[in-house]
Amino acid sequence: MYFTPNLRIILETMKLAGRVSQVTPSITLAIAAKAKAMKAEGIDVCSFSAGEPDFDTPAHIKAAAEKALQEGKTKYGPASGEPKLREAIAKKLRTDNGLNYKAENVIITNGGKHSLFNLMLAAIEPGDEVIIPAPYWLSYPEMVTLAGGTSVIVPTDASTEYKITPEQLRKSITPKTKLFILNSPSNPTGMVYTPEEIKALAEVVVEADIFVVSDEIYEKILYDGAKHVTIGSLGDEIFARTIISNGFAKAYSMTGWRIGYLAGPIDMIKATITIQSHSTSNVCTFAQYGAIAALEDSQDCVEEMRQAFAKRRQVMLERLNAIPGLSCPQPDGAFYLFPDISKTGLKSLDFSDALLGEQQVAVIPGIAFGADNNIRLSYATDLATIEKGMDRLEKFVKSRI
Ligand SMILES: *Cc1c(COP(=O)(O)O)cnc(C)c1O
Repeated sequence: MYFTPNLRIILETMKLAGRVSQVTPSITLAIAAKAKAMKAEGIDVCSFSAGEPDFDTPAHIKAAAEKALQEGKTKYGPASGEPKLREAIAKKLRTDNGLNYKAENVIITNGGKHSLFNLMLAAIEPGDEVIIPAPYWLSYPEMVTLAGGTSVIVPTDASTEYKITPEQLRKSITPKTKLFILNSPSNPTGMVYTPEEIKALAEVVVEADIFVVSDEIYEKILYDGAKHVTIGSLGDEIFARTIISNGFAKAYSMTGWRIGYLAGPIDMIKATITIQSHSTSNVCTFAQYGAIAALEDSQDCVEEMRQAFAKRRQVMLERLNAIPGLSCPQPDGAFYLFPDISKTGLKSLDFSDALLGEQQVAVIPGIAFGADNNIRLSYATDLATIEKGMDRLEKFVKSRI
């Protein structure tokens, strides 16, 4: 018998590492799970909590992965990713984004989240500061903490469309600053930095000689003619200080596939490959062939999904701004709205809890993103659910004001 009673006691009383108590489980995943459980009980829940497209992965992408599976692409591959996929991504970054990368500047990771985690492990050590504008994607500060670094949170508000200004960035920089995290289009606000705004931030980054990681996971989900300009494309000096984090989850509705990538200076990418070679090794081999098809085949599927999101955004935004007491600037990207709820007198967690309990509408409290006066609604769901949910939200807010 391997599990002697004594050994069991040792396992049960093992002291956990200190880093565990420094991070909290993802609130978004927890609320989405609660809404799902209510639905499973037969409760009619309108869920706006999803952080993923509601569409199935396009058929040609699935077919490419199936073919790879049948052809025996079922073995270990290079930790850095399939050479053909690294090549396809480098080509995409050159042609779509104007970034002069080769395959060796790219690592394939288990999703955009994993890209950023690898980067933090490779770049951040105790004492290093990472500048994160709030509202932020909730995993950023937790990853910095897990890497032993310090997050410097810079609050922004609706007056600048929840975007950090060059002055704010400049003021937040200290001799310990290593990295600035830029996310445009943004989760949770949906805001998109204009080319001029990106240029002004790039100047601060170069002047202070820090690095910027640009999380571009929503680059393809844009509305009203908004343009995505990647910060690294604005000159050699900023290019040398830029790391791109991106993936297939949002643009191609491939959240469960777990494929992302990081692109940047070769030394940095090599470091992340070393880390990955001792942790996850390569991303699921046949899944990577689906990603190759996603990049190399027609991009019509991306546009079809974008158009569906555009329609839903319009409906949800109009309904939301018609509710007295709520206000929300119009976002140009991603699939989220981030209204201000402060006139209800409720903080975000109480608001979200009461809304789910009283009206069976699931939203994410802004506190998860460092903004306690807001909630995040995802419109990655059908129009009927949006209409029904907005009726309920209206009832809820009217009962509080
Ligand atoms: C969804 C998301 C990611 C990455 O998601 P993966 O599923 O890990 O590829 C990264 N950044 C932001 C802001 C996101 O919303």
